[in-house]
Amino acid sequence: MTETVEQSAKPVLEASALNALLARMPAVERVIASTEAQPLIAQYGRTQVLAAIRATLDGWRRDVQAGDSAFGADAGAFSIERVIADVDRNLNARARGKLRAVFNLTGTVLHTNLGRALLPDEAVSAVVQALTQPANLEFDLASGKRGDRDDLIDELICELTGAEAATVVNNNAAAVLLTLSALAARKDVIVSRGELVEIGGAFRIPDIMSRAGARLREIGTTNRTHLKDYEAAISARTALLMKVHCSNYAISGFTKSVELDELAPLARSHGLPVAVDLGSGTLTDLTQWGLPAEPTVRATVEAGADIVTFSGDKLLGGPQAGLIVGRKELIAKIKKHPLKRALRVGKLTLAALEPVLRLYQAPEFLRERLTTLRLLTRAATEMHATATRALSAWQRALGEGYDVSVEPMFSQIGSGALPVDVLPSSGLVVRHRGKGSSGRALLKLERALRALPRPVIGRIADDALRLDLRCLESADEAAFVAQLAELRL
Ligand SMILES: *Cc1c(COP(=O)(O)O)cnc(C)c1O
Repeated sequence: MTETVEQSAKPVLEASALNALLARMPAVERVIASTEAQPLIAQYGRTQVLAAIRATLDGWRRDVQAGDSAFGADAGAFSIERVIADVDRNLNARARGKLRAVFNLTGTVLHTNLGRALLPDEAVSAVVQALTQPANLEFDLASGKRGDRDDLIDELICELTGAEAATVVNNNAAAVLLTLSALAARKDVIVSRGELVEIGGAFRIPDIMSRAGARLREIGTTNRTHLKDYEAAISARTALLMKVHCSNYAISGFTKSVELDELAPLARSHGLPVAVDLGSGTLTDLTQWGLPAEPTVRATVEAGADIVTFSGDKLLGGPQAGLIVGRKELIAKIKKHPLKRALRVGKLTLAALEPVLRLYQAPEFLRERLTTLRLLTRAATEMHATATRALSAWQRALGEGYDVSVEPMFSQIGSGALPVDVLPSSGLVVRHRGKGSSGRALLKLERALRALPRPVIGRIADDALRLDLRCLESADEAAFVAQLAELRL
């Protein structure tokens, strides 16, 4: 409503006044030749600066013609300094790049939309080296012959999981697709109806199954599946029994599912393999750090899984990857499938993965060195202390309209791991104080925080913006507070 009023109130310029105004606009040639333009040309090159000057002047011309009176009264409106300032701002924003560092204060540590696991320094330097120097990616240094890129990490993965063989592909979705394509094309795969999950981002077990050319043989019901259901479904067409870890949901109440140690003997007695999609999976027992239990890859292998697939960038704490471990002859078959070539990982992934896996060889230091584990095991008192230190600066920056407080909250692991468990945390809670819609004020604040040099991403719940400080480590604390000077509410 207010907009209509404002528009009709805008003075309409006479044609002569309009032309006079347009004539005051500097020519492109004058701007590009000005001393003010020279530093920009040195930084961005003449081509970009010229285009940006044109864009600015064109934009202003359109504003004037549309009757924007903002220019009218001000004699300096079209000064070269103003053009250059605008051009500088625009070129700066353009040069910043689209993929930016943000503060993940959502309370979800492994947030898929925010890039999941953060890598430790060892992985970062290995990636830098792989980016800037030739490496023996597929070259056997002992024999001087062509090698296999899986050789760089398969022994290490086997050591950490107890599996006979291993391979790595682009992500866990690719690992499942490849496994099904290689082991079950044109044949039946038996899966419990309680495990036909959708992970999000269009990863659904039935869809992956048909993409792989395998036939899904659903058994049991949503809440209950028995061993005899598997047994009754086994036929000459069966290629695989499959179990999928219920990553992002839990069924409770009157339920029954068949555990792997029951299923594996049945499969073996029919000469069939069992594949387990573990989703997150973990290489270490998380309960030793007070975290909720999650099946380890080793325990899954020991319970009789012939193939296990899991993600590199969930609880493992490494780069995006899909790890496939299991029996030697099955892994060999998987590696020979043409899709393996299409889904293989690049050298950056392998460079990052190896040092992360090596951290697991020294479990004593894992909690400190593996970034994901360090974040997951931080004590709520630490986050409380950080929040308390930041409180007054935040209250000052947000002003009268908002009320900031330090409150306990709960973080989540994320990425489908352990959906029902939460980790005690602490952070800043912002409520709207003034009159008017609190919802709209919080959305406005959320938007302003996203516009900061390093965007702050929180979560609105129960009429408050919540900033869980679990993922704000001390090295970033100063920058987190300092950039509030640029907050435009
Ligand atoms: C996360 C997940 C996937 C997909 O893994 P990506 O690495 O994201 O491709 C597949 N299955 C399960 C059970 C998962 O939890």
